[in-house]
Amino acid sequence: MAAKLNEIILHNTLSNRVEPLAPIHPGEVRIYTCGPTVYSFAHIGNFRTFIFQDVLRRFFRLRGLRVLQVMNITDVDDRIIHNAAAASVPIREYTEKYVRAFLEDIDALHIEMPEELVRATDHIDDMVTLIEKLQAKGLTYSSDGSVYFRISKFPDYGKLSKIDVSGMQAGARVDVDQYEKDDARDFALWKSPKPGEHFWETRIGMGRPGWHIECSAMAMKYLGDTIDIHTGGVDLAFPHHENEIAQSESATGRPFVRMWLHSEHLIINGQKMSKSLGNFYTLRDLFAKGYKPSTIRFLLLSVPYRRQLNFTEDGLVQAKNSVERLRNFVARLKAEQFAAGSNPEIEKRIEKAEGEFDAGLADDVNTARALAAIFDLVRDVNAAMDRREFLQQNAPRTVAAMEKFDSVLALLVDDDDEKLRLLGIAPRKPQLPVSQIEGLIEERNAARRSRDFKRSDEIRQQLSDSGILLEDSKDGSVRWKYK
Ligand code: AMP
Ligand code: ZN
Repeated sequence: MAAKLNEIILHNTLSNRVEPLAPIHPGEVRIYTCGPTVYSFAHIGNFRTFIFQDVLRRFFRLRGLRVLQVMNITDVDDRIIHNAAAASVPIREYTEKYVRAFLEDIDALHIEMPEELVRATDHIDDMVTLIEKLQAKGLTYSSDGSVYFRISKFPDYGKLSKIDVSGMQAGARVDVDQYEKDDARDFALWKSPKPGEHFWETRIGMGRPGWHIECSAMAMKYLGDTIDIHTGGVDLAFPHHENEIAQSESATGRPFVRMWLHSEHLIINGQKMSKSLGNFYTLRDLFAKGYKPSTIRFLLLSVPYRRQLNFTEDGLVQAKNSVERLRNFVARLKAEQFAAGSNPEIEKRIEKAEGEFDAGLADDVNTARALAAIFDLVRDVNAAMDRREFLQQNAPRTVAAMEKFDSVLALLVDDDDEKLRLLGIAPRKPQLPVSQIEGLIEERNAARRSRDFKRSDEIRQQLSDSGILLEDSKDGSVRWKYK
């Protein structure tokens, strides 16, 4: 479906179609975002999802819409309780370090702060009230001090993830926060404490909330019974979001969310990057390898959110070059002196790029299309400059267009080293420009062809001293990466 003029279309998991955005409150989009579980550092897969949400909200704002986004911080769950108990510290103290790290990380990546960033443990009473509502409607049952939602009481269960619930075992319970996809069973709203575990003393007894009730309670508290957009990674659609729908719609009798947006995973070697598989990089891991925040942001936003993104270090190297290309272009626009006047062809070219950038993002946040519009413009304008067809009066207009694009992309401000310093990471010594690296590799290839191994070893060493590792493949080609 092609968007009509000015329409923003988004893929809604609920209808499995793209639909035009039509906010309930005219001019304001209300978004709920499942935030991090702060039992350890977030990994770059998590940040793929958070950056997608950032691009989405920045695009809405560029379109003149107000945004009211709520993101939760899951600062109580089984793993947190377990780890805090093992470390003999209160859970708040245990999670504090990871909350702080998350805030530092989103700042480093230029992810805007949501209007409300709310912690689960500050909303226990709201969760208890919601559970009481469900109890009063006869939708729950208690067992050993825990309270469960009876899925068979919600006929629409499965409408989001389209799972077949017919084979579901009535009355079978799931207590843990994380569970396998096919484990669709009655889920815990409230869990009684095991000995030595943290608990709250509440009207519904001692214990702690289940994971799903958190998001329902906080979403409806800040955004109302029906929300425009709810986002998260695809792994959350079932059971987490399905359970949110069941609880919320049962409590209010109204649709909970109009549009569900799910971002696909960041994968590595064909598998989802995840903490449980251990195949993950945190941001700090990559910073320590010499990659910059802007490089990572570019890579993570470059692939449209509904496509899987295969993480490789080669991809990071390309991303670094792409960011440099954008920054160099703006630097050239600002530094170079062009002949006086204004070339109307250039103005037209910029307008075309602006239109294409907007159309790309309006088309279900197609960031690849939006980026292509910019890089095509950069190529054409650079060529026009070289041909001396670009005139001085074209410069401010071109810079303004780049800044407009950057209100969504947030890549142009060269504050990478400063962000790293804030994290206590010493910026690496400047690496060689890519053109020079490739020139040296060419020279080394020539040396090897003429069997001048002394020279070829010297070049390998020189690159190694600059943090570049060469890999000679069997077919004779040479690949390089940062160490
Ligand atoms: P968590 O901290 O595990 O609750 O996850 C925070 C967010 O990251 C959720 O929206 C997840 O769906 C998302 N997420 C987790 N792993 C990945 C991944 N490999 N790629 C993209 N998003 C992910
Ligand atoms: Zn959630």
